[in-house]
Amino acid sequence: MTKHGLNKIPLLMWIIGTLVIAASFYIETNIPLETEGLYWTVSIILVALFSYFGGLFGGLIFFMILSGIYLVMGLISTPNELSTDNSFTQVIGLFISLSLGTLGSRIRTNEMQLNKLFKNNDISFWTWDIETDDHTYSEGYAAIYGVSIGTFRDNPDLWLEVVHPEDKQIILNALEQQKSGKKTTITYRFFHSNGEIRWMQDRATPYMDKKGVVTRVDGVIFDITEQVKAEQKMNQLIHYDSLTGLTNRNWFQNYLDTALITAKKYSRSLAVMFIDFDNFKRINDTLGHSAGDQLLIQIAGRLKSILRESDVVSRQSGDEFLVLVEGRNSDEIEDLAKEIILKMNSPYKINGTEIISTPSIGVSINLDWEDDAEALIKKADFAMYLAKENGKNNFHFYNDELNQKMKRQMILETYLHKAIENNELSVHYQPQFDIATFRITGAEVLLRWECGMGKIPPDEFIPIAEETGLIIPIGEWVLRQACRDIKRFKENGLDSFPISVNISTRQLMTPNFIDRVQTILSDEQVDSKLLTLEITESAFLYYEDAKDNILALRNLGVGVSLDDFGIGYSSLSMIRNIEIDELKIDRSFLNDSLINNRVRSLLEAIIQIGKKINTKVVIEGIETKEQIEMLSTHNLFGQGYYYSKPIPIDEFEVWCKNAYKKAKSF
Ligand code: C2E
Ligand code: CA
Ligand code: CA
Repeated sequence: MTKHGLNKIPLLMWIIGTLVIAASFYIETNIPLETEGLYWTVSIILVALFSYFGGLFGGLIFFMILSGIYLVMGLISTPNELSTDNSFTQVIGLFISLSLGTLGSRIRTNEMQLNKLFKNNDISFWTWDIETDDHTYSEGYAAIYGVSIGTFRDNPDLWLEVVHPEDKQIILNALEQQKSGKKTTITYRFFHSNGEIRWMQDRATPYMDKKGVVTRVDGVIFDITEQVKAEQKMNQLIHYDSLTGLTNRNWFQNYLDTALITAKKYSRSLAVMFIDFDNFKRINDTLGHSAGDQLLIQIAGRLKSILRESDVVSRQSGDEFLVLVEGRNSDEIEDLAKEIILKMNSPYKINGTEIISTPSIGVSINLDWEDDAEALIKKADFAMYLAKENGKNNFHFYNDELNQKMKRQMILETYLHKAIENNELSVHYQPQFDIATFRITGAEVLLRWECGMGKIPPDEFIPIAEETGLIIPIGEWVLRQACRDIKRFKENGLDSFPISVNISTRQLMTPNFIDRVQTILSDEQVDSKLLTLEITESAFLYYEDAKDNILALRNLGVGVSLDDFGIGYSSLSMIRNIEIDELKIDRSFLNDSLINNRVRSLLEAIIQIGKKINTKVVIEGIETKEQIEMLSTHNLFGQGYYYSKPIPIDEFEVWCKNAYKKAKSF
């Protein structure tokens, strides 16, 4: 404490006590004080002092050395010269001095520890005498504020003056509470002498006299700045997106959960917008990630400028943003969605280049009050996919029809998890032909699934399998099934031709994909030349990741076919970058060729490209004789209902045998 040296008292008392005890001990005993008795009195004090500094062990050693010196110098009698009375007295004396010494040593260490605590520069004790209004502090107090003790003595109110103005009220309230006898714990900011804003925690306990009047308050203050900073940093990491500075998904979800409770209580409408930018991936891939990052920062800024202060915008992940708007009706929300689309459609300037990135927006409103944050976000996400399906740069509200669709998807997802285990999967085969000669040149394996909900078309369950990752085990199941069937065809005497298996991009990108293909081929003892894998050009979006696997497949001798060719934007880049064995031209070309000359010219051009690069060209979806006639001028391959629908393996085998006969007579 700075006002008095109270903490020095125990040490002082120990010294006086030791002197008194030592002296009285020898006065009481009958050793003559002038000679030996004096030496013993001095030794007892010295031994006590030694054990005070060196503990019990130190004291003992010192005693032995001292006695040795006395004996050698003949200052005291040797033990056998001593009377039993005297040696007994001396042993007691030694015992007392050692005890006193070690006790003192204890007091000393305690004191040193306490002193350390008092001088600590992030913790300090204070006392406030209410009657005299005097404040007493422990030594470290001034250090917390970065000033000298003297400064505090000159200005005892300094601690209050340096409190952050916004937090002053917290202290004034606490003082009132303390005066009325309540304990308080408060946290506030203050200005350190170096100008830095730091954080303090102050815990106070008031004491009352017998009449119940508060006379004194004791407290302890902690400088908790480092702890607060660490918490803030954690908070930043947990709740904010480091790129855009917007709150992140976690934060949004927590906030939305609370907002939903309030909205329900006051019957207020609340809408979540899920915004995805349509061509962000391509911008990232073509202009680089740092350009992509800059774009996201600008998008975040633009979104904030469109929204009201009270609306919340958050970054979900990648190019997906979430917006929460409260208290607006559906017309107003629609207007807002339109405004976002309009403003987001003007170009962004990145490194001097103008870029356009259009948004697709899904909106969900808390119509039935049962949805939690996760459900509402999921609905908005779902509606966003519809906005994309409807041609992108668009918005879509979540509605009842979507609700049904989403529920069905969720049920299918649970069923799909068990599909392999329950033996619900099977494959159909659809033959491929040389259009000119009618000879079978291959067949495509098409997956079928029949579960408790009936037959589910692949266009419905494949996306669910892709989204959930189930496509990996399912895709592997198809691959193995196809290889077994290749062996079976051979055993049953069918002409050997390659079988094509559809591979989803997610499957192609798994790191051990090539190993898996190789293992299955060798397990089933199938020649790799009899296997073709159909990949779609979405693989090209991940070209860098997929490229090695595509090359490795070709090195294995497995054929690679580019499915649905011509409908995506990167079809040509794909064949420019990798050698491909086969192009499968999307059936939309054929469908439109007979009615639209432009499409027909395009189809012819694509066929020419395929031939120029020495790639087999397969036309999908041949349904009519006219189509065959239109195509038979070219050296082409075809597949479609005109020849055969995809059929189960038994039927397919019979079909093939009949087809050979037909081909021979052709
Ligand atoms: P895809 O790879 O383009 O397969 C061709 C689809 O067109 C098949 O639909 C087939 O039944 C249909 N088709 C064939 N000929 C004609 C025709 O003349 N007219 C018409 N309108 N359609 C015809 P399916 O079997 O419903 O499969 C749909 C899609 O599901 C496939 O499109 C493929 O992308 C995917 N898929 C099917 N099986 C698998 C699989 O094992 N793995 C993966 N990843 N995807 C698969
Ligand atoms: Ca296919
Ligand atoms: Ca296709």
